[in-house]
Amino acid sequence: MINIILFGPPGSGKGTQAAMLKEHFNLLHISTGDLLRAEIKNETTLGMEAKKFMDAGQLVPDAIVINMIGGTVDEVNQKNKSGIIFDGFPRTVAQAEALDNLLAEKNTSIKCVLSLVVDEEELTKRILERGKSSGRTDDQDEATIKKRVLEYRTKTEPVANYYAQHNLVKEIKGIGSISEIFEALKNAIENL
Ligand code: AMP
Repeated sequence: MINIILFGPPGSGKGTQAAMLKEHFNLLHISTGDLLRAEIKNETTLGMEAKKFMDAGQLVPDAIVINMIGGTVDEVNQKNKSGIIFDGFPRTVAQAEALDNLLAEKNTSIKCVLSLVVDEEELTKRILERGKSSGRTDDQDEATIKKRVLEYRTKTEPVANYYAQHNLVKEIKGIGSISEIFEALKNAIENL
């Protein structure tokens, strides 16, 4: 299985690129943000709990997120996919450890962490722009965006160090056209 983590701050283009890579490499796309938004839409207990954190620009507690992705890995075989592209997960070292254990149980592992590099000014600009059409309330308020970037710097960046210990991280410039960035990501996967 080719299991890849698409890593990077909010607004770095993970969702856009994951959707394209999933098609190209026949991967299962797991976006915890999308899964959480679906729970909110369906007004589930999990969704209502998660919403409080999401609206405040904070990470949803690890236990909720880890529990949510537990069964999704089995879909790879059911749907005849070549592997998984994780988008927005793992966002803490505890999530990364849980993911490693989950994959090990299925006799597989993470092959590569592709880290999109985009500067802070560009991130805020892109998220505010996305907020105009996405309807996402967490994309429309500058204070919430700042909080999300801070959560990323303090809790999520250490995840890159965790995988760097195993030499799995490859940085990709996240500035340029969507197709240029896609080419760079595609080449990195083909060279694995
Ligand atoms: P995203 O769509 O990936 O930008 O995620 C939107 C929001 O959902 C984040 O700001 C978090 O509040 C929450 N979220 C998504 N994925 C995770 C995760 N892996 N761990 C904790 N919170 C998450």
